[in-house]
Amino acid sequence: MTTTHIPSTETLESFRQEIDQIRDETMAKVGQEDANHIRKIVRIQRAMEMGGRLVMIAGFYHWIWWVVGVVMLGLAKIINNMEIGHNVMHGQYDFMNDPHLNSRDFDWDGICDGESWRRTHNFEHHTYTNIIGKDRDFGYDTMRLSDDVKWKNHYRWQPLRMLILTLMFEWAVAYHELFGERIFVGKRRPEGKLPISHAQLIKDFFAKIRKGVFRDYLFYPAIVGLFLGWPMFGAIVLGNFFANMIRNMWASTIIFCGHFTEDVHTFSEEECENESRGQFYYRQILGSSNLEGSKLLHIMSGHLSRQVEHHLFPDMPSYRYNEVAEKVRNVCRKHNIPYNTGTLWGQYSTVVYRVFKYSKPPKKQDGFANA
Ligand SMILES: [Zn+2]
Repeated sequence: MTTTHIPSTETLESFRQEIDQIRDETMAKVGQEDANHIRKIVRIQRAMEMGGRLVMIAGFYHWIWWVVGVVMLGLAKIINNMEIGHNVMHGQYDFMNDPHLNSRDFDWDGICDGESWRRTHNFEHHTYTNIIGKDRDFGYDTMRLSDDVKWKNHYRWQPLRMLILTLMFEWAVAYHELFGERIFVGKRRPEGKLPISHAQLIKDFFAKIRKGVFRDYLFYPAIVGLFLGWPMFGAIVLGNFFANMIRNMWASTIIFCGHFTEDVHTFSEEECENESRGQFYYRQILGSSNLEGSKLLHIMSGHLSRQVEHHLFPDMPSYRYNEVAEKVRNVCRKHNIPYNTGTLWGQYSTVVYRVFKYSKPPKKQDGFANA
């Protein structure tokens, strides 16, 4: 869906002023409360991860403990990636000067290299949100979600691709930058556009995979196997695999709901040339969608349930997003700017609808037809 009614310059300027005011007032309050929040989440996450790994071992006595351990570890991995990893790596908690919770040094659980994520997500996706051809997160280079993307025969299979992306999300995210640079398949992009060389990119990619695979599929299973026998080695390998799968399914669901819902707009490069700050905010809002729900949903989604607010203020501590959401919504209402929100299942069903809708060839292929 391309944008058709860009508000007047005066409206966008008044809108910008009010959004900036929300930002300034909120950032002035950031401090101890936010630090307490993230430290508490880190304590819970560590306890759940350690607990999950230990409870899984008790599966030696009864299989039910294995199941409980897998779920606990899966939830711990979700919290590590979402409420802690994504937000800390954005620099939201840099003000704490904590050696472990800062955007330069933090690295998350999983097989995606943190530096690669910072380049593709923090910079590319947050700057060029939903600009077709510039934001590689829109459809992840594998799904067609708008008529602005030329239809090709292979898009017929995109519901299946969505399923594979859901199950293997961390692998897709890890490979995202290398795919874009055509490192292994296709004609390589010229070096020089990236701050690092292709050789370093490949080295970092495999180093992080080795680390993640070693820990979940060799180190922990081997320790348990040594004491409790080799069938338990297999049980821990399988348990860690399912815990990673739980994380992948949840993380992808939340991310799809943030940018691929039915009413999320896309933009052309021409539309965004010489974009004013007000226009930038307007694009961030139209390119994102929110989820309504409990405090638990907000924490488990890393507050990406407040995707609109996250895109307006990516370096604001996530703890503040609920507080600013109502204010942002009121400013949007006042300026007649759409604010996309709904329940998790309501939003997710529109994502599925959109994936199916654009998997079919358009009625007429004339380049920039509106959705
Ligand atoms: Zn982000």
